[in-house]
Amino acid sequence: MIELRTPAEIDQMRAAGTFVAEVLTALTAATAVGVNLLELDAIAHSMIRERGAESCYIDYHPAFGASPFGKVLCTSVNDAALHGLPHDYTLLDGDLISLDFAANVEGWVADSAVSVIVGTARAEDVRLIEITQLSLDAAIATAVVGNRIGDISAAIGRVGQENGFTVNTDFGGHGVGRTMHGDPHIPNDGRPGRGLPLRAGLVFAIEPWLMQTTDRIFTDPDGWTLRSLDGSRAAHIEHTVAITDDGPIILTARAA
Ligand code: MG
Repeated sequence: MIELRTPAEIDQMRAAGTFVAEVLTALTAATAVGVNLLELDAIAHSMIRERGAESCYIDYHPAFGASPFGKVLCTSVNDAALHGLPHDYTLLDGDLISLDFAANVEGWVADSAVSVIVGTARAEDVRLIEITQLSLDAAIATAVVGNRIGDISAAIGRVGQENGFTVNTDFGGHGVGRTMHGDPHIPNDGRPGRGLPLRAGLVFAIEPWLMQTTDRIFTDPDGWTLRSLDGSRAAHIEHTVAITDDGPIILTARAA
């Protein structure tokens, strides 16, 4: 079911968006050589407690998950693309980590992800993150009343493909509201002019993710982490966006 939010409800959702942005800002600052993934999860967990928020992940147990997630943060390192389960791993110089975080604040959810290079950057990783960001920017720019879901999908796919990437459409964007995952689904590639018309009040997460030399993934033995089939690195960037008559509002925008 597609739910439309009133302007007052979108205003209420800003608290969740701001909190999720603050957590990702803190985690980005904490990400460094020698930091363990479990420490990053612990930082996010303590911020959730301080804020009186609720984790969207800790009890999350969809059909594709082996067991409840058990952590409050996804940490996808290097060849891990999505749903990286935090484990006892200490970040090394040159690692590429994607941090995906969602929380419920005062009854509303926001969901966002960022990709960060740890220490010394490799040129191909910088480019991968840049193209992923460009595809998100292009998608958000099309998220206006009068366009359709297919325009958002097509924008993501086009930027990826124009830059030499093949785009996996198994996982993509989704409605966000009282819960983390709702309708509509927003594939990361599609045909312009197709699909649900965009109306003021739609709120959804847009989340392009790209892998350097493949579009195929497999599930790690941990039952959660999705890795590139060929071991190449991945980037994943996400914002929760509200469609309004005045254009898209990025609810999870981070302070510059
Ligand atoms: Mg997310």
